[in-house]
Amino acid sequence: MLGVRVLLLGGGGREHALALGLADDPSVEALIAAPGNPGIAAVAELRAVDPVDPVAVAGLAVEVGADLVVVGPEAPLVAGVADAVRAKGIAVFGPSAEAAGLEGSKTFAKEVMTAAGVPTARAYTCSDEASTAAALDRFDPPYVVKNDGLAAGKGVVVTDDRATAEAHARECGRVVIEEYLAGPEVSLFVVTDGETAVPLLPAQDFKRVGDGDSGPNTGGMGAYAPLPWAPADLVDEVMRDVVHPTLTEMRRRGAPFSGLLYVGLAITADGPRVIEFNARFGDPETQVVLALLETPLGGLLHAAATGTLADHPPLRWRSGAAVTVVVAAEGYPAGPRTGDVITGGEQPGVIHAGTARRAADGALLSAGGRVLCGTATGPDLAAARDAAYQVVRGITLSGSHHRRDIAAAAIDGQIALPV
Ligand code: AMP
Repeated sequence: MLGVRVLLLGGGGREHALALGLADDPSVEALIAAPGNPGIAAVAELRAVDPVDPVAVAGLAVEVGADLVVVGPEAPLVAGVADAVRAKGIAVFGPSAEAAGLEGSKTFAKEVMTAAGVPTARAYTCSDEASTAAALDRFDPPYVVKNDGLAAGKGVVVTDDRATAEAHARECGRVVIEEYLAGPEVSLFVVTDGETAVPLLPAQDFKRVGDGDSGPNTGGMGAYAPLPWAPADLVDEVMRDVVHPTLTEMRRRGAPFSGLLYVGLAITADGPRVIEFNARFGDPETQVVLALLETPLGGLLHAAATGTLADHPPLRWRSGAAVTVVVAAEGYPAGPRTGDVITGGEQPGVIHAGTARRAADGALLSAGGRVLCGTATGPDLAAARDAAYQVVRGITLSGSHHRRDIAAAAIDGQIALPV
């Protein structure tokens, strides 16, 4: 598999982490990213493209002579970008639009889970006030109300306040209302060619904006891996009870899922329960999981994209741990301010999530809500955490904020599994 030309789609922190992994793989001959970001520009050639335009992306893949297209974000997948590229005879890491419905529609995901017997929260799909009220009546608080469509990780409200739950349902139009799952959360990434499935290391992310899980939900404020508190048989159990039944059900429907199946779980008193599926790598967990992956990334993704994962050697992992801390713009998540000058953005360990270059002088500017991630590995979680915060201390961005407690509860042995 030598000499692979890879086109990577996307321009956030996840894609910067993917780009670092791909650039490190000796079998990757050329790495082109579209649209990329200033961090990715250090390891890839950047091209401009509208990532959700299937015709434009397929055209670019042909033009750059790509052997493999890696789709980072969910929106291009739901828009059918993987289908358009495959139609050109080019291998794609990422599911078809139909299979990406596992992320694109919460209702579809629930249907698949029910058919596959996957353990998940009881749920009702509602699109008017009466059905919303009836569904809320069936549950005790906290209420969980999810936008049915794509919402970039921000479509979920978990609240004790019924009026807030009802207001979110009204705003979204069509929602899924479901049982609250109590227990620590785990993100498990599974690389699959539709049939064979290879789990990566479980990670945990931090969805709420503030320390101690306070404030509104975000796209994710930090992450760490591995999980010292996770049950030893967790991954085997999830592969057996969740991943393989889901892949089988997708094949049965004629919509095999290949690419990255992200399983978001709560470890409840009754065992692991699926909170959500995503159809791509999670952000920011990718930053820590890939920091620990020793196996060359390009070869792994190419095997998944070409249906040859069964022949791929077992994954190798670095010992130790990894932590990433997101530095967010002032006002994130409600209304992030952009256009501020960043310093310290080029140090080792800085992953670019929402940055841009000022045309006039090349200065690095904030250009999104989540701006940078300080990422580090270490011999254990505490060392990795300290090193990640050291990276964050080297960054200046006016008005920015970050959580101070990433990985702290795990390091202090304070994550308890419910009994
Ligand atoms: P999602 O977009 O489905 O990942 O939801 C975002 C976040 O909302 C999750 O990471 C959880 O913290 C929370 N959440 C979603 N569904 C549930 C649930 N059924 N029970 C408890 N928390 C949930």
